[in-house]
Amino acid sequence: MEKIMNYIDGGLIEPSSKKYLDNYNPAEGKVYSLLPDSDIEDVNLATIAAQQAFASWSSLPSEKRSSYLQKIADLIVRDLDALALAESIDQGKPVKLAKNMDIPRAAANMSFYASAAIHFASEAHITDTQAINYTIRNPIGVAGCISPWNLPLYLFTWKIAPALAAGCTVVAKPSELTPMTAYLFSKLCIEAGLPKGVLNIIHGLGSKVGQAISEHTSITVISFTGGTVTGKKIAATAAPMFKKLSLELGGKNPNIIFADCDFEQAVSTSINSSFANQGEICLCGSRIFVERSLYEKFVDEFVKRTKALIVGDPSDEQTNLGALVSEAHLNKVLSYIELAKQEGGEILTGGHRVKLTGRCADGYFLEPTVIVGLGHQCRTNQEEIFGPVVTIMPFDSEDEVITYANSTAYGLSATIWTENLKRAHRVSAQIKSGIIWVNCWLFRDLRTSFGGMKQSGVGREGGWEAIRFFTEAKNVCIRL
Ligand code: NAD
Repeated sequence: MEKIMNYIDGGLIEPSSKKYLDNYNPAEGKVYSLLPDSDIEDVNLATIAAQQAFASWSSLPSEKRSSYLQKIADLIVRDLDALALAESIDQGKPVKLAKNMDIPRAAANMSFYASAAIHFASEAHITDTQAINYTIRNPIGVAGCISPWNLPLYLFTWKIAPALAAGCTVVAKPSELTPMTAYLFSKLCIEAGLPKGVLNIIHGLGSKVGQAISEHTSITVISFTGGTVTGKKIAATAAPMFKKLSLELGGKNPNIIFADCDFEQAVSTSINSSFANQGEICLCGSRIFVERSLYEKFVDEFVKRTKALIVGDPSDEQTNLGALVSEAHLNKVLSYIELAKQEGGEILTGGHRVKLTGRCADGYFLEPTVIVGLGHQCRTNQEEIFGPVVTIMPFDSEDEVITYANSTAYGLSATIWTENLKRAHRVSAQIKSGIIWVNCWLFRDLRTSFGGMKQSGVGREGGWEAIRFFTEAKNVCIRL
């Protein structure tokens, strides 16, 4: 069985403990590879390597850093098919989605920050004829980058690319549920000739490896994407050490449909924003609010199209929804469907585990599920489910739906469907979330900042924000 290795100081090596964890193929419900059960010793080794590499990497001309990142981007593009297949096997998502979204975006992340490395400029302020103030931005040091399982290579590269571009060296930890593409990525880094120690990838459990990264005194900046509960733990560990933190956390995003929307666009995109990647995208719109005059028509059409979605073998090009990432996660999502029933919800379609035949007979498949009849304040509508489950609720006025939308502890993203431009601006201004899409979903310009409000996170990623995050500003004032 294939053994995934840690990537430390330029080499692929075993964990110090020599112990391994099972890595599952969620579509088959079977172990198909092993990943290192790393611990603090491996994190220490990786951090020492990153510290040793820091002086030369941070002082390398930015063109050189850029060319390494671009080379890695080119290798990802070269290996698109193999990486997409690996991502699909490891995560459960349709291979078609990995090919069209995850892997191209991973390459785009590397390319974007290859370019950012050479275009970044810090500020200068001229105080009339009295002084010139300018800002020097130095890479902070060794960065810890911790990523989740839902968009494995996509989010892994979204963190390490700006860190490397800024001149930091990195100790990175992918999710233990989806380690494979980060491992393949480490091989690409070796092929690209990335200097040893610049990037180190440690596989293993969050409670051991992630915790050791949070606690390590020589890792002075941490970029984390994952659940809100984990984010709180990391903040509790790292904040007293005054580490710089970026926390991209959970969401419970509203999808608001006004009666004057472009109906076809609103329905078809809402199907996508509800069930893409099995609903395992932090930006999925899991609470759909529909203006009452359109409610029945929307629900009928939405349910009809949900029923037509194909839950199936992720390797099949026809499949719309693959497997959930793990049995534990499948059970968690099923428990929320039970909760919704207890809270008085009516399941219009879905609600059950799907039993496929053949190689996928033991896979973790779930029907896309649509629930109505719940109020906005019940637990089903307040807690993140992170699966192919949505609720639909009617509303009568703008003020009412804004209250509903803002009623959770989260504030990650929101979607608004209306053809009324003034309303689009008005409602956007009042929704508390880091990103708002009007008449679209998931569209991203990588130059814009990204991040959550309230319990959806602290800090912003993307564009120059991420380069600023991984650098420390020093201001020099020269009196004229
Ligand atoms: P998770 O919090 O369980 O794990 C995320 C990462 O943190 C994993 O690598 C894990 O091993 C590690 N980890 C676990 N315990 C740790 C600890 N004590 N210290 C340090 N690291 C630890 O999240 P998940 O289940 O992998 O991902 C799903 C969550 O991620 C959802 O809540 C989703 O909304 C969120 N998410 C947010 C964004 C965003 O941009 N805001 C994007 C994707 C996913």
